Amino acid sequence: MTAAIHISADGLTAVYLVSAACFILALKALSSPRNARYGNLVGVAGMVVAVALTFLVQAPGHDWVIGAGMGLGALVAVPTARKVPMTGIPQMVAIFNGVGGAAAAVISLSEYLHDLPIGVPTQKGVEVLFALVVGCLSFAGSMVAFAKLQELMTGRPVVYAGQQVVNGLIALAVVGLGVAIVVSPHLVPIILLTVVALALGAGVVLPVGGADTPVLISLLNSFTGLAVAADGFVLDNVVLVVAGTLVGASGALLTKMMSDAMGRSLPNIVLGGFGAAPTGTADAGGAVEGRTVRSGDATDIGTLLAFSRKVLIVPGYGLAVAQAQHVAVELARALEARGVEVAYAIHPVAGRMPGHMNVLLAEADAPYEDLMEMDQANDQFPSTDVALVVGANDVVNPAARDNPGSPIYGMPILDVDRAANVVFLKRSMRPGFSGVDNALLYDPKTILLFGDAKDSLTKLLAVVKAS
Ligand code: NDP
Repeated sequence: MTAAIHISADGLTAVYLVSAACFILALKALSSPRNARYGNLVGVAGMVVAVALTFLVQAPGHDWVIGAGMGLGALVAVPTARKVPMTGIPQMVAIFNGVGGAAAAVISLSEYLHDLPIGVPTQKGVEVLFALVVGCLSFAGSMVAFAKLQELMTGRPVVYAGQQVVNGLIALAVVGLGVAIVVSPHLVPIILLTVVALALGAGVVLPVGGADTPVLISLLNSFTGLAVAADGFVLDNVVLVVAGTLVGASGALLTKMMSDAMGRSLPNIVLGGFGAAPTGTADAGGAVEGRTVRSGDATDIGTLLAFSRKVLIVPGYGLAVAQAQHVAVELARALEARGVEVAYAIHPVAGRMPGHMNVLLAEADAPYEDLMEMDQANDQFPSTDVALVVGANDVVNPAARDNPGSPIYGMPILDVDRAANVVFLKRSMRPGFSGVDNALLYDPKTILLFGDAKDSLTKLLAVVKAS
């Protein structure tokens, strides 16, 4: 068993504050790809200080059990995190977040059961119940979101008649049981509450689907933070309160930023139903059945690029799938060497997580000053000769801007259709994540180069170099 080190309460709080300061600095650094590695290290350092201090000063006992749990967790998490492709990060965040929610729920439940024989004070009861309910919601919701994104079940909304009423009744049962438990603490109602809160978590996520799922994961991440903060009050642990609040606040901000970037309100996302109706019809998204598309070959398109004055590269999810960032940057350099003005137009939700494209392009050493945000890029498209769309679809779909009947109507887009020519690199006529067809693919000014984005870019690079 660990021998406790004696340190005054103020001393303990001061060291915990150092670790909390590390978390804040880490978050700040993580907001830019340049400093993200440093931010990660600072966050890890803060966590090591917090965990070591808890072991050394508070000597929780059961060292072997705790050590085995931490070892087992590391054994599963480290190889998983190393292996996961960047396009699978939302699923990974979902499952890690779910486990965090479950941990918060289990801690609060064990504290409650520990105090039950001697009586649970009302304030502690409220804190415990909050952590339990929110932790369970987060766990069950995250597991369903994981199953959807990992395609273990349909990614579409699962809806049935009266679903919101059923969810509302379950929510009422949670509140009712919670009040009953605070008034009169008992074992059976708290077990029942755990089950009902799990059902509510799953019930809330089932009707959410398609492009909304990652936003919901961010919201659930924020919930886990709040549950952890509540556990901090239960255990009287400052660093848990601070870390939990930081996760809660940053998750809430990220949720807001993502839903704004998709032009969706949060209630709209949570009430679900996105993409429930069959898409791919003219009504849904502007599909234009019966019209033809213009497909080109690498020689024509490479020549068009080589003799352009200004090219904007628009990366999307397909660039990440194809891992085409390095060759995209090489192509940009080859064009610049010929005097072509080249920049990258970055949509805030291109790919599958915020900042996805920035991270990929930073990895390929694209000059930071060449990455244009959406508003800046939209000012440039009317004077652009070629918008080269590399594996993007939803984020350039004009239906989001022009068609009030489209499920993605209201999502701010990159106005690539305002460029003189639009080139799409994609493998087929399949739509993007939202399942909504893109009429721009059929536009006379659009040329499609079918194939894997990396192969297509490699061919274009060869043509540009030879021109
Ligand atoms: P989309 O999912 O709309 O489109 C991706 C395109 O890439 C498809 O047209 C696909 O066509 C093509 N593609 C896939 N693999 C390859 C490949 N190997 N080579 C070439 N092309 C490929 O991506 P966007 O980036 O435009 O949009 C992101 C979507 O994700 C939006 O709907 C957004 O709302 C959603 N979303 C994003 C979040 C974020 O934070 N980034 C969060 C939540 C949702 P094909 O199969 O024919 O090749």
